Amino acid sequence: MSKLILAVNAGSSSLKFKIFEVPSEKVITSGLFERIGHHDGIFKIKAPGGEVKRVLPLPNHEVCVSELTTALIDLKIITSIDEIDAVGHRVVMGGKYYPDSVLFTEEVARRVESLIPLAPLHNGPNLTGYHAFKSVLPDVAHVAVFDTSFHQTMSEEDYLFPIPYEYYTKYDLRRYGFHGTSHKYVSEEVTKLHNGVYQNTIVCHLGNGASITAVKDGKSIATSMGLTPLGGVMMGTRTGDLDPSLMYFAAKFDNKTLDEVYDIFNKKSGMLGISGISNDSRDVENAALAGNKRAQLTETMYARRVADYIGQYHIRLHGANAIVFTAGIGENVPAMRKNIINEVKDAMGIILDDETNNITRGGKYGLITTPESKVKVFVIPTNEELMIVRDCMRLLEQ
Ligand code: ADP
Repeated sequence: MSKLILAVNAGSSSLKFKIFEVPSEKVITSGLFERIGHHDGIFKIKAPGGEVKRVLPLPNHEVCVSELTTALIDLKIITSIDEIDAVGHRVVMGGKYYPDSVLFTEEVARRVESLIPLAPLHNGPNLTGYHAFKSVLPDVAHVAVFDTSFHQTMSEEDYLFPIPYEYYTKYDLRRYGFHGTSHKYVSEEVTKLHNGVYQNTIVCHLGNGASITAVKDGKSIATSMGLTPLGGVMMGTRTGDLDPSLMYFAAKFDNKTLDEVYDIFNKKSGMLGISGISNDSRDVENAALAGNKRAQLTETMYARRVADYIGQYHIRLHGANAIVFTAGIGENVPAMRKNIINEVKDAMGIILDDETNNITRGGKYGLITTPESKVKVFVIPTNEELMIVRDCMRLLEQ
């Protein structure tokens, strides 16, 4: 019998949703709320007659949930809210506790809350979203799907930082890694493309946030993000890996508090910090094409940071045989993919097929290397919501 499952991704000022029919995995509707907390919030939802967009006050997440339930019925997407059989929630930080998705019980909610100090920007809003949907749908199964779960297979050598060991035992300060749902989804797609045979895969999830993961035998063995999503490669506004003393000197020379420097490293660095133009790769690319030197430098730096991780993980995997690009930049920016591959192609024996690289964008799947290439490079659009829904199904069947 078919069921409807709602996948939710609640952020501090946005809430994205997608409803799937299972087992067909057909998308019934999707949409988002933006500018939560503002009187001119935005609500977009796909309806049978086309996309509906409204501008309305969105004081909090509860109002979004109530607007959504009303719209689902008014737009004849469902006839009653009782048709929804389960809700899957993205939770960014599961700490060391969740190697897999779990039923979102009150005990899990308390643990997610206890992890807020380690993920202040994410776990609070994720939990607010859960409570808002739980109050409207108290009797259906709610499932928590953690960004960190997929990376729980890393070994101690990879997840520990070389700081006093007590910081790990006392405060759980270690690498957790993020975007796990995406890395798992695209690496599983690679396995499917090879008739179920695991490939030594390097996944490059390049969105506004970006992370690289080495996947062996279907498991994450190393990933670039660290304790928080600030670590790893350079991103839209985040620094990625740094010499830790930069925190000290930036605070000292610029007369800033630790909190202020942390904020600058999270929100004003990366592509935005170097280019001085934007965190959006489209703006940086346009400026670079128009001859702006700092935009050109931003693009080269970004490509090199990603390539450095690819090189490192190629070695860790004792030879990668697949690289996958996914997320906003990975799926849509052929020039950036080429820049990255150019840095590693000689060492790895990669031969890019320029023509397929150039046309593989806008949600297209593709193999963008020639048959002679020693390592295959794929573009695979990520689908975190589908993974959330699959996990809900799996847990409901248990
Ligand atoms: P996140 O989910 O981390 O917020 P996304 O995966 O949506 O981010 O990626 C956002 C980045 O991808 C931005 O830098 C944006 O410029 C780039 N991007 C997204 N879509 C496109 C597109 N169609 N063409 C070019 N760049 C795009």
